[in-house]
Amino acid sequence: MPTLPRLALLVSTLVASVAPVFGNLVPVVPAEFARCVAPDAKVEKLAGDFQFVEGPVWLPRESALIFSDIPKDELKRWTRTGGVTVFRAPSRNANGNSLDAAGRLLTCEHSGRRVVRLEPDGTLAVLAEAFEGRRLNSPNDIVERRDGTLWFTDPDYGLKTDPATKAKVGKEQPGNFVYRLDPKSGRVTAVARDFSHPNGLAFSPDEAKLYIADSGAPRHIRVFSVASDGTLRDGRVFCTIDKGGPDGIRVDREGRVWSSTGDGVQVFSPAGELLGRILTPEAAANLCFGGEDGRTLFITARKSLYAIRVLTTGAAR
Ligand code: MG
Repeated sequence: MPTLPRLALLVSTLVASVAPVFGNLVPVVPAEFARCVAPDAKVEKLAGDFQFVEGPVWLPRESALIFSDIPKDELKRWTRTGGVTVFRAPSRNANGNSLDAAGRLLTCEHSGRRVVRLEPDGTLAVLAEAFEGRRLNSPNDIVERRDGTLWFTDPDYGLKTDPATKAKVGKEQPGNFVYRLDPKSGRVTAVARDFSHPNGLAFSPDEAKLYIADSGAPRHIRVFSVASDGTLRDGRVFCTIDKGGPDGIRVDREGRVWSSTGDGVQVFSPAGELLGRILTPEAAANLCFGGEDGRTLFITARKSLYAIRVLTTGAAR
């Protein structure tokens, strides 16, 4: 018969061996994960009854979140006081969104098969819709570098599949590429051609590295060095995702990588070590840092929008 202290030790050892769950949190490297999220932080459901939400981006000037309901063909706007309203419809099945340095909204359109920017006068500027004379597939996610170049992924998720041939209808590109776009010249350059389904992407805080999620097969995040001429070098697998696939990803100010996954959000150290998980009731597709102090993580997960307070802020907008 073990003594009480021994019994307590045995129980705590058993609990620790199956990774403790504190509410929605599963620390894997507890000391490091505690720098990311407070142990008592809870996932809060902000809104629901959507069809499939993606592409959250925080607008600091308006204290508002913009996100996409892809099948509903709408961009949505959420504020703490006003709830959810329609921001733009139709959205041409918008997916990923981000801001450029001037605060303009950049949007990847699935059915529009293009990348657009919302101008201050309310019009949409088409930034890219083709590469080497062929239409893009269905741009998915986009991020700006401090030099003004825009980097976006172009998997073929937004194209219909022919049930007989299994081929993507209307696909003109020979693959699913990652592109760099110079908005001044309009020039589009393929920077990676060997992804299955490139998806979310994010730069390291110093922008020397670019992380790109592959949500096809295999499902992992790769990291590249960004050369001074804008090419990608030394690509390697940064981490693999064990629940679902990586979709949207963000980097925090300390260089950790936060990836949406089938079980919520997984947080990786700059060295690629899994630090912990934030579990969400529905599989997550994308995330962003935001809120008044930048320390709220917004998560789009299937039919709902969630948020959790965190202890860091995003490296980029
Ligand atoms: Mg995506």
